[in-house]
Amino acid sequence: MTRLDQPTLTGDDEVVEDFPVPAPLAGHGPARVIAMCNQKGGVGKTTSTINLGASLAEYGRKVLVVDFDPQGAASVGLGINTLDMDTTIYNLLMKPRLDVREAICPTALEGLDVLPANIDLSAAEVQLVNEVARESALSRVLRPLLDDYDAILVDCQPSLGLLTVNALTAAHGVIVPVAAEFFALRGVALLVETIETVRDRINPRLKMDGIVATMVDTRTLHSREVLDRLNEAFGDLVYSTRISRTVKFPDATVATEPITTYAPTHPGAEAYRRLAREVIARGDVA
Ligand code: ADP
Ligand code: MG
Repeated sequence: MTRLDQPTLTGDDEVVEDFPVPAPLAGHGPARVIAMCNQKGGVGKTTSTINLGASLAEYGRKVLVVDFDPQGAASVGLGINTLDMDTTIYNLLMKPRLDVREAICPTALEGLDVLPANIDLSAAEVQLVNEVARESALSRVLRPLLDDYDAILVDCQPSLGLLTVNALTAAHGVIVPVAAEFFALRGVALLVETIETVRDRINPRLKMDGIVATMVDTRTLHSREVLDRLNEAFGDLVYSTRISRTVKFPDATVATEPITTYAPTHPGAEAYRRLAREVIARGDVA
């Protein structure tokens, strides 16, 4: 049986319809820019950026991961050593004349590139404040790349500061990872408000693409309650694909690989492939 017609068990014995394996693309671009955003740390933003990106690349999409967190976790998680790197996203933000293509690093996975960040980026928040059009510095950096990729995923830092506003200004859509644990919903309302403010004032095309539940453990009542509350509050915005809690994700981080190559047949890898199919089925990536 092909993956096309295969129903998927989500863990609570609820059989939901799977999404078709996407047809290959005839050409690439223009890219849709998606900000992976939640001001809470440790909710799976970076893990989702890396693995959604890797899965989209597996389906033949050209993907750029933009590391937009001074911790540099997305860069490191994709095997990039950013310590003594001359040009990172920070330099591109501060110096308009630099060539963005010179900063792009290929990864071990075909079709998946990274625009890396390191701790230098922590200075940008303060330095950008005095710039003209301070909210659109990232848009300017990404503009020359739009025709080269099908999806540009921006891994945001855990804050609603100026860097995140830059990501929301550059984006067409936002994906919000939410960890299925206590206090998960706190802050999501504030995030939605911030997205609406950026849409009203700066970026009218900005769309809330969806909310992805991560670190789900359906054996616990608590995790199931969070899922119910997410569905009540956000309805169809919540992706039917859920990402289970498994130690394979931290393991893959240590191995500096996506789970899709570190443990290709693991349910965690399958879950992110399914999320990629769902995102494509919704029309949010070509
Ligand atoms: P964020 O970018 O939102 O801070 P990360 O993606 O870095 O979150 O995840 C935080 C930690 O949780 C990392 O160590 C990561 O490996 C781990 N993690 C992410 N997703 C899962 C998951 N589904 N199950 C278990 N651990 C996870
Ligand atoms: Mg992160």
